[in-house]
Amino acid sequence: MSMPDKTPLHWIEGALQSLDAEGLRRHLRTRSGPQQAGIKLQQQAVLNFGSNDYLGLAADARISEAVRKALATVGWGAGASPLISGHTEFHEALTDDLAKYEGTEAACLFPSGFAANAGSLPTLVDESDAIFADRKNHASLIDACRLSRAQVFIYRHCDVEHLESLLRCAAQFRRRLIVTDSLFSMDGNFAPLVEIASLRDRYGCMLMVDEAHATGVFGPTGRGISELLGVEDAVDIKVGTLSKALGCAGGFVCGSTPLIEWLINRARPYIFSTSHPAATAAASRTALQIVRGEPYRRRDLLSRAAWLRANLKSRGWNLGASVSQIIPLRIGQAEQAVAVATELLQAGFFVPAIRPPSVPEGECLLRLSISYDHSEAMLQDLSEALESSRSLAV
Ligand code: PMP
Repeated sequence: MSMPDKTPLHWIEGALQSLDAEGLRRHLRTRSGPQQAGIKLQQQAVLNFGSNDYLGLAADARISEAVRKALATVGWGAGASPLISGHTEFHEALTDDLAKYEGTEAACLFPSGFAANAGSLPTLVDESDAIFADRKNHASLIDACRLSRAQVFIYRHCDVEHLESLLRCAAQFRRRLIVTDSLFSMDGNFAPLVEIASLRDRYGCMLMVDEAHATGVFGPTGRGISELLGVEDAVDIKVGTLSKALGCAGGFVCGSTPLIEWLINRARPYIFSTSHPAATAAASRTALQIVRGEPYRRRDLLSRAAWLRANLKSRGWNLGASVSQIIPLRIGQAEQAVAVATELLQAGFFVPAIRPPSVPEGECLLRLSISYDHSEAMLQDLSEALESSRSLAV
């Protein structure tokens, strides 16, 4: 038998060429040194507006010290999933801290925020049930909905009337779950959680809220948008991540004791994935202490972000509905977004161009992420650099 002259994967080259042709091909960039406001990307020194290290903790020396100390007592690898022997006293202490911080009965850890969403949601609903999901929910929630095999009703972004009209026609399902990001990762706006919480009460649904971008940043004690808007009691399943404002790694879910027991017994990424190293849990405990003890970080971050939004708006940029440290500059076409990002990079500012599949076609944007590490002067410089690149955006 003669060997075929093409391998079974030969189609990938053609598919990659299509991505190139559409301006959608992505490439890794290598960073040297710590994650902070000034970084070296591909060996070029740039001001960094492309991290989720909102509170400037990723390179905090106290967190590194916590890691060093934990390493000295438990070594590095966790060696097993949590239900076998990977759940150390560091993990246990972190879940206690998280539950206390979040004011819930219990919490459990996942390998990432993605795994927290993709793992927990499918344990709550199945073919007999219905999910009501915001159109702009994060990819991990979209995948979680698919994995669950429940019927998924997508409501228009932040449109509570549309959500209610869908709920009204869904009485026949066994269970109903509303799921939303609290702070949308591409638009920087809040979900209307007060109205959603009242629909949850009225229609007897479960409510799952992903606070990934809001944990540590919003609310009087940094517990997110549900704290800010006073609806925490209506959130049945609260997801957070340790990898953004907390500068560490891993995701978590907090809620009632039965919920967490159920997840520990049923969530597949929990059961079938190795625990994080104990030292990462130690790092997160220290980060949580800093978040609690240094509220000025979120206060300063949000006031600088507000200044930048006002400045960019006054210069005519379209920021959509952003009210947070995530500031999108809405451009539209991929080529234009890439052209502006490229010119900014040449001027020493790293601002990622966001294209499909992260946003729908024709809704490309530049995503500015502001960190506590950014000084007012850095934001001023960015605003001026953007002004110079404006002609490429229109
Ligand atoms: N939820 C949202 C809304 C996110 O934006 C992200 C990360 N981009 C995640 C969950 C996943 O979190 P992690 O990075 O910890 O996997």
